[in-house]
Amino acid sequence: MSASHRAVAIDGPAASGKSTVAKCLAARLGLIMVNSGAMYRAVTWQILQDGILPSDQDAVIQAFERMKIICGVEDGVSTISVNGRMLSSELRTPAVNENVSTLASFSKLREGLVAMQRAYLESDDVVMEGRDIGSVVFPETPFKIYIDASEEVRAARRSKDGEADVVAERDAQDSQREASPLKISEGAIVIDSSSLTIDQTVLAAQEALIELGWED
Ligand code: C5P
Repeated sequence: MSASHRAVAIDGPAASGKSTVAKCLAARLGLIMVNSGAMYRAVTWQILQDGILPSDQDAVIQAFERMKIICGVEDGVSTISVNGRMLSSELRTPAVNENVSTLASFSKLREGLVAMQRAYLESDDVVMEGRDIGSVVFPETPFKIYIDASEEVRAARRSKDGEADVVAERDAQDSQREASPLKISEGAIVIDSSSLTIDQTVLAAQEALIELGWED
């Protein structure tokens, strides 16, 4: 980990509320918020655009190596462009939801994206959310939080957003894969957001950070 910058690692399953919490927490602490899932989604979107079969690992990796991926920051939140196109709503289509976990199981792809995730810490303090932030991306950070919620609550949150998402399937794939599976990192404080509002969850995350030794 960079000697001069701090990383807050937020991990958890799909639709646990971690993006919203990470965004609010970053704004309160004056850090930038990095959504690592957007990177896996961006590659998935481009692969589908190129007509490549998501399960064809060799073809995916070859295409990934040719992609021009630019990670940036706008208004304190990470952005991503692929081959000159800035991606946002494209990242949440049903086709991307359905295929992203397949691509995320390819270790060569993960290595490339983890390097891009770590690069953010070279210039900024970050709150980064994902599945392997505390375990693989920033294993040395003391600031690890795991946000959970019951399966019913998570499925309900997604359908309330109007999004067709295979939450349970993605979770199963994400936690059973060999490469950097979703798990609670050692030392992480677990917050169950099932019956909490966003504000209450952000407050719980702030209290967790203080417990972990965070100082402003
Ligand atoms: O966080 P989000 O639901 O947008 O992530 C989309 C998918 O990207 C996850 O289901 C997972 O397969 C993958 N992912 C990952 N590691 C991360 C972030 C996301 O494998 N750090």
